[in-house]
Amino acid sequence: MSRKNKDGMIEPVVSAEALAAQSADPYASMLSRFHAASDRLGLSPDEREVLSRPSEIHIAYLPVAMDDGSVRVFEAYRVIHSRALGPGKGGIRYAAEVNMREVMALAAWMTWKCAVVNIPYGGAKGGITCEPKKMSVGELERLTRAYTRAMSDVFGPDKDIPAPDMGTSAREMAWIVDEYSRLHRGNYIPAVVTGKPLELGGSKGRVEATGRGVTTVILQALQRMDRRPEGLTAAVQGFGNVGSITAKYLSQNGIRVVAISDKTGGFYNENGILIHQAIQYRDAHSGFLEGFKGGDRISNEELLTLGVDILVPAALEDQITPQNAPHIKAWLIAEGANGPTMAEADPILQDKGITVIPDILANAGGVIVSYYEWVQNRRGHYYTETEVQDRADHTIKQAFDDVFTRAAAQKVSLREAAYLIAVERTVRALRMHGRY
Ligand code: GLU
Repeated sequence: MSRKNKDGMIEPVVSAEALAAQSADPYASMLSRFHAASDRLGLSPDEREVLSRPSEIHIAYLPVAMDDGSVRVFEAYRVIHSRALGPGKGGIRYAAEVNMREVMALAAWMTWKCAVVNIPYGGAKGGITCEPKKMSVGELERLTRAYTRAMSDVFGPDKDIPAPDMGTSAREMAWIVDEYSRLHRGNYIPAVVTGKPLELGGSKGRVEATGRGVTTVILQALQRMDRRPEGLTAAVQGFGNVGSITAKYLSQNGIRVVAISDKTGGFYNENGILIHQAIQYRDAHSGFLEGFKGGDRISNEELLTLGVDILVPAALEDQITPQNAPHIKAWLIAEGANGPTMAEADPILQDKGITVIPDILANAGGVIVSYYEWVQNRRGHYYTETEVQDRADHTIKQAFDDVFTRAAAQKVSLREAAYLIAVERTVRALRMHGRY
């Protein structure tokens, strides 16, 4: 569709649906924040061009023998956004909704995340469109090994280092390190992947790392605001690794988690949900909370607008929208998920005076411990849990201070400050690499 403007030039008319489709695109949300930071930092058009696109996209169609004797072909991606600051780093997502635009956005967010917390990695992400909870262990193993073979020239301890993300865990990482090592004549190469089981060179504290980091930044923010955690209430959207562990740590710190949810729906209990019970229930019911008796049923949408102090979106992208943002009552949001807030919702939250600890800082605890896992693998020397936690706490607190200080100095939101730091560090490295 198009129309003529006052100068007689043809210009496109963007329909409401097209706009909505555009804004529900996580890559568009990522780009709009990147461009805002680039404007302030004065990036050249060339630098923008390089960083606004992924550097590599690998797609593979993986035939997998299913248990019933049929063969199914799965679409799989690995996107490297940037290697300016180090090898590609980022998880692998197994989910029905996985698509390339999403993986592109997630890869770019890894670049900004690693840069903002100052660990020597670039950004990457993988994804396979599949329904892991409906697949057998054997099918998942064959799928993961096929993916590793397809990406054997992409992955590497100095090239691109995968890790768990939604729908994957230490189990899949074990298959990856095994398959990758077989492909390399049996040389054991644990540093090719992080988030491994402890027995295979994983790090103590990796499983809890993201939720622990989310809690740490929430406590840091409260301290800056002169608020004590005791007696505050929180709602946590998403009950996977990040949501459930964040909920556990928040309640251990005296914050009453009154609502939790997963994709089957949510639960509200004004006295606080018993998180260990919810975790037990989920683990005994194929990973879902459906049927949990610890609270009244609410929808995911209701959870987001509850009258709580703290909101932790720890599920999918694009949950906080321009439509629901005006109704959010929490005054502190910590983004456990990647990209849970649409770019168009940012100014609404800001006008309401809500403090948002952005994803690239709030959920960086996972990749920080991944970095220490990789360091341990390369040194062949392993840290105690306390050593890992001390290092990780120090790293994320330093990043929090950097972001907070920058936000105050430039009078911008924490998200804008985090992007300014991340894009600045990345572009400086890009310049040092020289011309291409
Ligand atoms: N998937 C996690 C994230 O989004 C962890 C990535 C990693 O450890 O490399 O940050």
